[in-house]
Amino acid sequence: MNQPDVSFELFPPKRPDGVEALLGVAKDLAALDPAFISVTYGAGGSSRERTLGVTAAIAKEAPVAGHITCVGASCADVDAVLKEYWAAGVRRIVALRGDSLDGIGARYKPHAQGYAYANDLIAGAKKIADFDVSVGCYPETHPDARGLQDELDNLKRKIDAGADRAISQFFFEPEVFLRYRDAAADAGIDKPIVPGIMLQPNFKGLQKMARLCGAFVPLKVSSAYDGLDDDAKARDRVTVDLSTQICTRLANEGVDAFHFYTMNKSALATEVCRNLGISKDRRAA
Ligand code: FAD
Repeated sequence: MNQPDVSFELFPPKRPDGVEALLGVAKDLAALDPAFISVTYGAGGSSRERTLGVTAAIAKEAPVAGHITCVGASCADVDAVLKEYWAAGVRRIVALRGDSLDGIGARYKPHAQGYAYANDLIAGAKKIADFDVSVGCYPETHPDARGLQDELDNLKRKIDAGADRAISQFFFEPEVFLRYRDAAADAGIDKPIVPGIMLQPNFKGLQKMARLCGAFVPLKVSSAYDGLDDDAKARDRVTVDLSTQICTRLANEGVDAFHFYTMNKSALATEVCRNLGISKDRRAA
C-alpha cells in the first residue's frame, strides 16, 4: 500500500487558555506531513475570531485550511474573513453552508444579505483570491437533500463553482463511501472525494453526533464499544482499530487520501496513520 495523503481537522478551543495546547496538537500532527490541517468555524463573533487566530498560528507549522460558513453573516462580512485568511497566508479554505443558528436539524434559512449555499460561497471566495477549496459531501446524503440524486446535483454545483475536492461526512461502512464515490464518478464529478474518518472515542458523544448528521452506526460498532464506558484506554483502542479497518478497506479500493476528525487529540490520529504506514517523521524524511 502506498502511503496515503492525510489531512486533520481541529476545532478552536472554547477558552483562550486552550490555544497553546491546541498548537501542541497541531505540531504533533504536522510531523505526519499532512496535506493540510483544517480548523472549523463556528457561529458568533468570538468563535470566528478564535478560528482566525488559531488558523493563522497553525499556518506557521503546517499547510492549513480555514473553514468558513454562510450562516448568520452578510456576504461583506464573510468576504472580510476570507480576506483576513488570505492576508494571514491561508491559501486553503473548507467552504460550507453551515447549520441553522437554532441548531443542527432546525430549518436552515439563508441570511438576507448573505451567501445562501456553499456553491454561492465558493463563487464569492474565488472572486477574492485563488483559494484551494474543499467542500463537504455526504455518503448517506445530507439530511436536507431529497435523495442521492439531489445530493450529487448539489456536489456537482460546488465542483462547478470551483471546489478542488470534497471531504465526506463520517461513516462507518466502507461500502457506503465506495458506492457514493462510484455514483459521484457516474454523475461526472471528477474531483477527489476524500473520506472523513471520525476519531471520537467517546461512544455516547459519537452516537449523538451520528444522530444529528444522519450517519448510521452499525451493530459492529456499537457492540465494539459495549461495556467500555468507564475504560477510556479500551475505547481508544477500539477507535484506532475500527478506523484502521475502514481506512485499510478503502485503501484496497484505491482510496489514497483520508481526512481525520481528530477531536483535538493527536495520539489516535498518529496511531491510525502509523497503521497505514505513515511514520511520525515523514516530514523530516
Ligand atoms: P450545501 O452544500 O450548501 O448544501 C446543503 C443542503 O442545502 C443540500 O443538500 C440541499 O438540500 C440544500 N441546497 C444546497 N444548495 C442549494 C441550492 N442552490 N438551492 C436549494 N437548496 C440547496 N459546520 C460548521 O458550522 N462549521 C464547520 O467548520 C464545519 N465543517 C465541516 C467540515 C466537513 C468536512 C463537513 C462534511 C461538514 C462540516 N460542517 C461544518 C457541517 C456543515 O456546515 C453542515 O453539514 C451543513 O448542514 C451543510 O453544509 P454544506 O456546505 O455541505 O451545504
